[in-house]
Amino acid sequence: MAEKKKKIIKTIKVDLDKCNGCRACEVICSAFHAEPKYSSNNPARSRIRMIRHPLRDIYVPVYAGEYTSAECMGRDKYIIDGKEYDECGFCRASCPSRDAFKEPDSGLPLKCDMCEDLPEGEKPLCVQWCLNDALIYEEREEEVEEDVKVEDVEIGLASLIDKYGRDKVIDIMARMAEKTKPAA
Ligand code: SF4
Ligand code: SF4
Repeated sequence: MAEKKKKIIKTIKVDLDKCNGCRACEVICSAFHAEPKYSSNNPARSRIRMIRHPLRDIYVPVYAGEYTSAECMGRDKYIIDGKEYDECGFCRASCPSRDAFKEPDSGLPLKCDMCEDLPEGEKPLCVQWCLNDALIYEEREEEVEEDVKVEDVEIGLASLIDKYGRDKVIDIMARMAEKTKPAA
């Protein structure tokens, strides 16, 4: 049976009316997650993406969520205050139907980690860099059922197997293991 535990739930509230599409959030997120940190910035590697349609006055910051191997069978469209938003416009999934939230070189899924490497008490960087206060950080304590944590490496491997097939991934891993084997 799953055990109940107290947990800090971190949320970022998005105020669409305040976002002007400046993309500072994308820049700092991709720089913070570069290897080594701050060595480059490429918004395609950001865990937050701006959906922008300036002519329709549409600016939607969307956070990268979970990886999914299958795209949805149907699509949703939203009309809010007379503005029609694109299909999938608010979706957070790293999904096969689009390029968003995938590492451009490897195709591995990207996911917002709330800047977990930052020192305790510091707000996530996209929140700090949003000068328009469109991103509002909040924390609350909740009692939750403890799930078995699926490691990021497992999610990454699953996405590679979906993309290239099981045999190819096993073959590459076997070759890499051979190359990196310590000399006897
Ligand atoms: S919270 Fe951190 S990891 Fe998530 S989108 Fe913002 S800057 Fe990127
Ligand atoms: S930094 Fe703020 S205002 Fe600029 S695109 Fe991101 S959410 Fe919008």
